[in-house]
Amino acid sequence: MNAEEILKKRWGYDTFKPLQKEAIEAALAGRDSLVVLPTGGGKSLCYQLPAAMGGLVLVVSPLIALMDDQVAAAREAGLAADALHSNLKAAQKRASYQNLASGRTELLYVSPERLLAGDLYEILAPRLILAAVDEAHCVSHWGHEFRPEYRRLTEALDNFPKAARMALTATATPIVQDDIRAQLGLRSPEILIGHPDRPNLIYRAFPRRDQFKQVLEVVRRHPGEGGIVYAQTRKDVERLAAGLKKEGVSSSPYHAGLSAEERRQAQDDFVNERLDVIVATIAFGMGIDRSNVRYVVHANTPRSVEHYQQESGRAGRDGLPAECALFFSASDLATHRWLAKKDANLPPERERALEKQLRDIGRYAVAPVCRHSLLAEHFSAPYPADGGPARESGCGACDVCLGETKSLPKEEAVLTAKKILSAAWRAGGRYGTGYVVNLLLGRPNDRMTGNGHDQLKVFGILRDAGEAAVRAWIDQLVVQDFLEVTEDSEYPLLRITDGGKAMCRDEKEVVLGLPVPAKIKGSKKSKALKKAAAALRGGLEPDEELFERLRAYRRVIADKAGVPPYVVFHDSVLMEMAAAKPRTLGELRGMKGIGERKLERYGALFLEVVAGHPVDTMELPDVPDLPRPNPEGE
Ligand code: ADP
Ligand code: ZN
Repeated sequence: MNAEEILKKRWGYDTFKPLQKEAIEAALAGRDSLVVLPTGGGKSLCYQLPAAMGGLVLVVSPLIALMDDQVAAAREAGLAADALHSNLKAAQKRASYQNLASGRTELLYVSPERLLAGDLYEILAPRLILAAVDEAHCVSHWGHEFRPEYRRLTEALDNFPKAARMALTATATPIVQDDIRAQLGLRSPEILIGHPDRPNLIYRAFPRRDQFKQVLEVVRRHPGEGGIVYAQTRKDVERLAAGLKKEGVSSSPYHAGLSAEERRQAQDDFVNERLDVIVATIAFGMGIDRSNVRYVVHANTPRSVEHYQQESGRAGRDGLPAECALFFSASDLATHRWLAKKDANLPPERERALEKQLRDIGRYAVAPVCRHSLLAEHFSAPYPADGGPARESGCGACDVCLGETKSLPKEEAVLTAKKILSAAWRAGGRYGTGYVVNLLLGRPNDRMTGNGHDQLKVFGILRDAGEAAVRAWIDQLVVQDFLEVTEDSEYPLLRITDGGKAMCRDEKEVVLGLPVPAKIKGSKKSKALKKAAAALRGGLEPDEELFERLRAYRRVIADKAGVPPYVVFHDSVLMEMAAAKPRTLGELRGMKGIGERKLERYGALFLEVVAGHPVDTMELPDVPDLPRPNPEGE
């Protein structure tokens, strides 16, 4: 069988995603490769499919928490998969060893520590065709999750001179790519770099006005769906989680102050769909693989665009539409700065890097420019992905292109910017943002009258615009380098920059967005989802009620089978069932994402639900056992 036939038979997919085939071909030809594909790009298939074609594949991954689920998912595709790491029970370890010793194993997941122990080299070497290193950015100091063990991996890989090496990661700037090549000793690797854009994600970035209210609005757009809310501090997390609970939202907090058991429970409930929303500090998510996270909200600004890509990327791994909302305030950047500097004096180059990171994420959040294009640009990729001209309607999947954030007409933007800049100029760079805002709004206080600033021409000059707009414009001028917030005194001061002075002389262009209190259209539940699913089915819309019943049933089945729901079937498969309403196994077989093993194991059960047997009264049939690679291994 060729690769396409195996893809269809084992995974139920008709075509490869971009670069999958190239990666698989390199591996099968014994060549090294570096594979950079965004989250949801289908990286696991790049090393799993070669395992299905005979030979042994090793996968090194730092995320032990995910390994069991990955093994389960691989077994659902009919692979003889096992794992070895420190968290396994003795019986599982024994089974894994036995399978390995008897030559049955096709796919073995190991933690880097486990591999570096050295005792597996001899048993692996003769059969190993491919050594895949997942999350390969961990070798690099420049990546955001450096792992010292990863630096020693070449030492381990050198024991398998005949096996191809494949390094995989979701994000890697050119520096990180070079580091990966060097550190993992890749030998003239095939460089396979996918486009970073995630077209199924709808990005929204709005100025923050009322944090809880804005978060709740997003949550309300997704009733009963999985979501992650990120906040900056434990206190924020606790407050938001309590607020959501009070509103009747199934939610739980997650931060370092909770006990390990509480955290494990929250994570487990979330992955197994007993919990809809996790409110977390950014520590959360490393070990999360729930594929149907339908939204990620940043209640505070993330630390950098890289972090944002990583954190928001946890939405929509299944390729269905998902929403990523960010509520920006310039004060978040000051907090990040303070946190980065509080324990140590940063060397000048780190300080410059930090400032650039903060400026970049600030620009992303407030510039009234297509967010998809800003993100692509940040990762040095063209947008649209084909390098062609931008479409008239833009990306159709961000607040700017959807018309939720409107730009001021050009002349008005210039005029408004000049008013604000001249107020900052008049205030002489000796006052904070609040003072300048009050000046522009014409709200005098003792200090202002004492200074005689209430007599200035700029006093009250933006009275009609309102405070929210004026604050948002100031943020926008800061990220465009026309204003700066300096901190060389006790309080942050707002100051005009040289660029700002140039702008006033009409030597530079400016764009200003008008932050309308966006009433987001089309917010009815799963409308986007239904449309996407309909597109898959040639226009046939899924029956929402049936979809919910299938989902509920999947939860029960997953529980019985001891795997997370997404391992049974992705939402996209349930959507397709809810649209096509198959009656026979033959009809199920043609659907995307149903390989032979799954058809055999779950097909008949789900047909019952489609046939209309209500879940709660249905006698639960047993889930057929997953044929184990080693029956006596348990
Ligand atoms: P990554 O590790 O790159 O984030 P995964 O390997 O988890 O991505 O795959 C993301 C999703 O894409 C999974 O649901 C997977 O089943 C699906 N997928 C993988 N390859 C294909 C394909 N060729 N066609 C359709 N879906 C695919
Ligand atoms: Zn856009």
